[in-house]
Amino acid sequence: MMIHLLPAETSEMTGPARLLLKPELRGKEKAGIKEEAELDDDLDEGSFLLCRQCLSLITAASERIDVDGAHQHTFANPHGIVFEIGCFRNAWGCGTVGSPTNEFTWFAGYFWQVVVCASCLTHIGWRFTSSEASGFYGLILERLIESDIT
Ligand SMILES: [Zn+2]
Repeated sequence: MMIHLLPAETSEMTGPARLLLKPELRGKEKAGIKEEAELDDDLDEGSFLLCRQCLSLITAASERIDVDGAHQHTFANPHGIVFEIGCFRNAWGCGTVGSPTNEFTWFAGYFWQVVVCASCLTHIGWRFTSSEASGFYGLILERLIESDIT
């Protein structure tokens, strides 16, 4: 199995990034998403994804896209930290940090930048850009919560 590597944070991100991994939340989030899907298929399309830290709007479920054949991908960074990310066409509630680089990129042909919540600056993923394809956001799923209320 090929393991793609990508630095989790730039040096500027060292502070907030330490607070981010909360393994105890992972199971809850998955259970919540599954329940919603079972209750009402339409709810998923109409729902929004908020920053788990400050509840700011980040993106919408309707922005979900598949990249390399899947919406969800699991990657490890060079420190061995595993990230489950979902791919989104757009994510209005975040900002990029630093310059694009293709060092250790997880998606061949794409440059990446760290993406933070625009409100609380929590590291919530990466923006991937390419000169040959449209860019997208890879957001760390356990740092988002799904809600149907804006
Ligand atoms: Zn936030």
